[in-house]
Amino acid sequence: MDVVLLPDRGKLGLPRFEPGSVWLVGAGPGDPGLITALGLHALQRADVVLYDALANEALLEMARPAAQLIFAGKRAGRRSIRQDQITAQMIAFARRGKRVLRLKGGDPFVFGRGAEEALALAEAGIPFRIVPGVTAGIGGLAYAGIPLTHRDTNHAVSFVTGHGSDGALPDLDWQALARGAPTLVFYMARTVAAEISQKLLAAGRDANEPAAVVANASLPAQTVIVTTLAGLADAAMQASGATMLVIGANVGLQSRLDWLNAELPLTPARSNIRASTRSRC
Ligand code: SAH
Repeated sequence: MDVVLLPDRGKLGLPRFEPGSVWLVGAGPGDPGLITALGLHALQRADVVLYDALANEALLEMARPAAQLIFAGKRAGRRSIRQDQITAQMIAFARRGKRVLRLKGGDPFVFGRGAEEALALAEAGIPFRIVPGVTAGIGGLAYAGIPLTHRDTNHAVSFVTGHGSDGALPDLDWQALARGAPTLVFYMARTVAAEISQKLLAAGRDANEPAAVVANASLPAQTVIVTTLAGLADAAMQASGATMLVIGANVGLQSRLDWLNAELPLTPARSNIRASTRSRC
């Protein structure tokens, strides 16, 4: 079989940010250090940055001083703009010849409407590119001390959203999900944790298997609550902010791998809630 090399066409490495184009850039889960080199390259060249609530605002300091910074997320206390308005804005700026950077939390193609935005750009004939980011379910869990895989615990992982397009828990095949992978990572699921726990127990998962609620991963307010599948709903009620639920034996390794808090004496018996502070990051 012939090896087909990806044609470069000037699109690989750190390519030129062409005026009139839109780049959908993953900001990573929180820690500004987790943006990619390509994402930073784009930030330093963009004329307009439309940023999401989940993208760390510290990253905006790396944009050009002349860049126009526009909040385009949903957050309490701030005017939020609708998805179709965000898309329309991106298209309008690009048509005016601007270099438009859409900064999204985590990875733009993981549960964040990046695909919808890219489809709208394609439809409008606007050149775009995707700059992948570190998704919360991988990098955020690494900061929480939870390895996504370990040979002794799991050979597969499922990423699931707890939030369908109508806002409710999506209609999932719970039997298949429960059997499909030993480790399950739920995004956008804090308020439906009780339902998720019940459905997985009903589908045969073990009430005592390790589970965690991870909030604000890789940020100063990072909180990791280690519990069991049966205790997931109670633990979720203690969390606030961007939160993931993780279920699986790999979560059991957290007490030995909590590197972000490692200079603390590890006293897991005293409390299973650990919050990191900025000075420790
Ligand atoms: N595109 C993003 C996900 C967007 S959906 C990504 O790839 O990470 C938003 C959900 O992501 C949140 O509800 C939460 O479940 C998760 N999330 C994002 N950042 C997080 C963080 N720092 N800590 C915990 N969960 C996070």
